[in-house]
Amino acid sequence: MKSSADIMSQTERFGAHNYHPLPIVIHKAEGVWVEDLEGRRYMDMLSGYSALNQGHRHPRIIEALKRQADEVTLTSRAFYNAPLAELMETLAKLTGKNKILPMNTGAEAVETAVKAARRWAYRVKGVGPDQAEIIVCEGNFHGRTTTITSFSSEPSYKREFGPFTPGFTIIPYGDIDALKAAIKPNTAAFLVEPIQGEAGIVIPRDGYLREAREICDQENVLLLADEIQTGFGRTGKRFACDWEKVVPDIYIMGKALGGGVMPVSAVAADNDILGLFEPGSHGSTFGGNPLGSSVAIAALAVIEEEKLADRSLELGKKMLNRLQSIHSKDIVTIRGRGLFIGVETKEPARPYCEKLMQLGLLCKETHETVIRLAPPLIISDQDLEWAIKQLELVFT
Ligand code: PLP
Repeated sequence: MKSSADIMSQTERFGAHNYHPLPIVIHKAEGVWVEDLEGRRYMDMLSGYSALNQGHRHPRIIEALKRQADEVTLTSRAFYNAPLAELMETLAKLTGKNKILPMNTGAEAVETAVKAARRWAYRVKGVGPDQAEIIVCEGNFHGRTTTITSFSSEPSYKREFGPFTPGFTIIPYGDIDALKAAIKPNTAAFLVEPIQGEAGIVIPRDGYLREAREICDQENVLLLADEIQTGFGRTGKRFACDWEKVVPDIYIMGKALGGGVMPVSAVAADNDILGLFEPGSHGSTFGGNPLGSSVAIAALAVIEEEKLADRSLELGKKMLNRLQSIHSKDIVTIRGRGLFIGVETKEPARPYCEKLMQLGLLCKETHETVIRLAPPLIISDQDLEWAIKQLELVFT
């Protein structure tokens, strides 16, 4: 059998170096725990960037995967399939919207929302041809396609990937006056993360989303909420928008929708927006496939029936309080909502992640000086206590 070292060197030799992983080869996983090839156990505090809110290999999700794999896995949208119909009804009820458009990855769902907002601008708002603008925020992360990269404010995401897609205006995150000032007659939408994940768990001030909703209503601009990382219980509510009782015009969902098992994403909106797509205008070979749809139905059932949002809220409060009481000169600040916590360090965060890995806790830095702590939401009190102890050890 190959060793971890063999696998890492094979990966580096044959793979493009677009990632810088911690030196561990994960071989098996269950719940919040993963195991490397040599049998060492680690707790997963990254949860596949919040795609594993239900934990690794949740039995109910794996059962749905196996059951569906024995029936039919792919139909394409040239034909109907029952799991997709069921998933769309479930998601419509969950979001309160009456139409769903399924895709696979988060970036595809964001692209779908961008296309939907532009269509709406031309056909409903009456914006002139090819003039629609979408307002986005500094520090945003919405994926890696060329159009999405076009409106990133992060130079390393963009360097030598131009020419870029026009039609986007970048404003500071959390700045409501900047939003007001940026809206023009040709503005189609405001695309925003309710909490910026990749930027380092950046939480806007209370009231920001609500005020953004009001301005969008006044100005006839769509509000597009990217809940790909923050949705499905991660921040202690079903959606992070729920913190301010805000209902966006378009919910953009992904990650935990696939239960860490299949890539499943979707947008939810009312018929006045998603009804603007006609056959041939948009699609995806794998989007809405029965295997992913069955997995997503089970993934949603786990979140709702195991009350993972409530669990995230309760355990997140406890974890944040405990971490905030660590007195360390190495920590600048600790912020979070639910089990979505960022520890901002004075020095680069990676060495802390390496130390935590030695202690059996896997987490990953984001933006150089922030450690993102986002365990699966099914974590037990006892396991969380253990994780907090390891963090205390590293910072005191
Ligand atoms: N939007 C947000 C807020 C994200 O956090 C991510 C991924 O981290 C994406 C979009 C892109 O999702 P994907 O990597 O599935 O394309």
